[in-house]
Amino acid sequence: MLAYRHAFHAGNHADVLKHVSLCLLLRYMNQKDKPYRLVDTHCGAGGYSLEGDYAQKKGEYLQGIARLWDRDDLPPAVADYLQLVREFNPEGRLEQYPGSPAFARMLLRPTDQFRGYELHPTDHRIAASYLEPWRRAEVLMSDGFEGLKSQLPPSMRRALVLIDPSYEGHADYGKVVRSLREAIERFADGVYMVWYPQVQKLEAAQLPKRLEGVAPRGWLHARLTVQRPDSQGFGLAGSGVFIINPPYTMHDQLLEILPWLTDVLGQYDGANYLLEQRAA
Ligand code: SAM
Repeated sequence: MLAYRHAFHAGNHADVLKHVSLCLLLRYMNQKDKPYRLVDTHCGAGGYSLEGDYAQKKGEYLQGIARLWDRDDLPPAVADYLQLVREFNPEGRLEQYPGSPAFARMLLRPTDQFRGYELHPTDHRIAASYLEPWRRAEVLMSDGFEGLKSQLPPSMRRALVLIDPSYEGHADYGKVVRSLREAIERFADGVYMVWYPQVQKLEAAQLPKRLEGVAPRGWLHARLTVQRPDSQGFGLAGSGVFIINPPYTMHDQLLEILPWLTDVLGQYDGANYLLEQRAA
């Protein structure tokens, strides 16, 4: 039974960090003419209404994308991401938020491939119908952790993998590590990005260290903390992205963005970021 629906969270501070990072990676992959495959193991619905009941319930996007919408001091990489969000809102008002398949659709080239996995039947149906006109995209209604290995190595020998589970239970943390280990055994040259929530759980706190162990050839870790957990220790204080085989340019790009995002998205005086890497 899948209770998680990304529509409640679309456009929140965690989506901002995740999708700014994803756009940087896609732009980097596009610098070479050679095509690549993007595997999105947990792709969601593809796009979300911000005016619907789900997004309005807690209004999480108000503390995320809405804080960026009218700014005129955006660092270039954030401006690039925001421009894509604007393209997804042709009326010029912030009404919808693009999910990872929509960023892919806007940035992948005609020769690149998209492979998405989504287990929730409704979100799978929405994503599949959104991507239907795109011949080089496939959205499968099956387990993305299991499916990842069947996508690697891709025939074109270039791949970017996004692993963005819902972490509904404790099991997803272990599955991320296991599926990555298998994926890297099959295709060590891929670029892999894992998103994780900063919540009061041992598994979440330990995840970056465990990921270091499966990344012998170099990694980059960025975390953005924007709020205090509530008095019972619940709530999403922030989130992180862990990138295996990152582009050599990415550390400096994130160094330019993260202080700005901390200022703009921070909800308390202690808002902060972490940026660390180990080069190959
Ligand atoms: N990647 C999306 C984006 O950036 O727009 C958001 C994905 S959301 C955080 C996680 C999604 O994974 C949910 O839509 C959920 O239904 C789906 N899901 C949960 N377990 C899954 C599994 N084992 N395989 C594939 N999808 C799964």
